[in-house]
Amino acid sequence: MGEFDLIARYFRRPVRHAALGIGDDCALLQPAADSQMAISSDMLVQGRHFFADTDPFKLGHKALAVNLSDLAACAAKPLAFTLALALPQADAAWLAPFSQGLLALADAHGCELIGGDTTQGPLNICITVFGEVPVVSGRSQALLRSGAQAGDHLYVSGTLGDARLALDALLGKVALPADVLEMARARLEMPTPRVALGLALRGVASAAIDISDGLLGDLGHVLECSGAGATVAADTATKLVAASAYGIRAGGQFGLKFSQQQWRALALAGGDDYELLFTAPPQQRAAVLAAAQSSQTPVTQIGQIDAEPGLRLLDGQGQPLPNSYAAFDHFA
Ligand code: ADP
Ligand code: MG
Repeated sequence: MGEFDLIARYFRRPVRHAALGIGDDCALLQPAADSQMAISSDMLVQGRHFFADTDPFKLGHKALAVNLSDLAACAAKPLAFTLALALPQADAAWLAPFSQGLLALADAHGCELIGGDTTQGPLNICITVFGEVPVVSGRSQALLRSGAQAGDHLYVSGTLGDARLALDALLGKVALPADVLEMARARLEMPTPRVALGLALRGVASAAIDISDGLLGDLGHVLECSGAGATVAADTATKLVAASAYGIRAGGQFGLKFSQQQWRALALAGGDDYELLFTAPPQQRAAVLAAAQSSQTPVTQIGQIDAEPGLRLLDGQGQPLPNSYAAFDHFA
């Protein structure tokens, strides 16, 4: 199977929205009037971002999901993407499920593959996504990291920490019961980009970011870009670890003897969650809850934005906690 054969067989499909898709030197996209393009790239490197034996269907899903998550964070509607692929060999047993996982998620979001590049080399997957954000009365509807204001509430979508828990289990740092591992592993290998929530938060949220490196680390980017500080209810966030004692095994039959500190670390510094972390003024609370409902995405308030710079962590009793999480070694 040659390079062009491979593209035709696994990646080329009838064009739907693009002005021109795969096959020429460039693809062509026609942005809608009064809109901006939102563009983002993410690269997945074997050994760095995924294990060599990762299920190719799931890898195809994740490669696009992490890019769609960036569009979601900016409240951009997915339009199209390109795929730059380095492959050790043209292996149909890998390419077929990879393209199926990739294109299934693409179809679910109406995001079409319009081009790319294919080369021989160590497995490396680089996707660039293109999305659209309306400009209303001269104002972009994009959500940025820089928009948080003192007094805003701080929210997070979905669950936290389970992807990291799965990673630690796969690295042999922690043993998980089979059902917990399965649940956590799904979060690691097939994250859900919160596209519908991002779109519903246009005109509601003041700032947003997607959580790829851990909640507190990514919150730090928002605070830096916004010139603000924040107070975070650590134990409210910790309850969002689905695998925790508060989560799927509520009732104490848990089997995982982690300390409160370890659960907090998963929630606050876990990484690979691909949830949205966002801020909104208090008067937008009802609109935030409506956005959560319309997008069928759970949302939890975990803190607030302060004028005073820096990050303050509080425990369940409202007492200050030391912020040692960014550098915390969870299961050392
Ligand atoms: P060029 O050499 O002009 O850059 P190529 O010969 O590499 O173009 O690619 C031919 C066509 O196939 C182009 O339209 C390109 O965008 C597309 N393409 C190449 N690799 C991929 C891929 N992995 N996925 C989707 N489209 C691809
Ligand atoms: Mg060319």
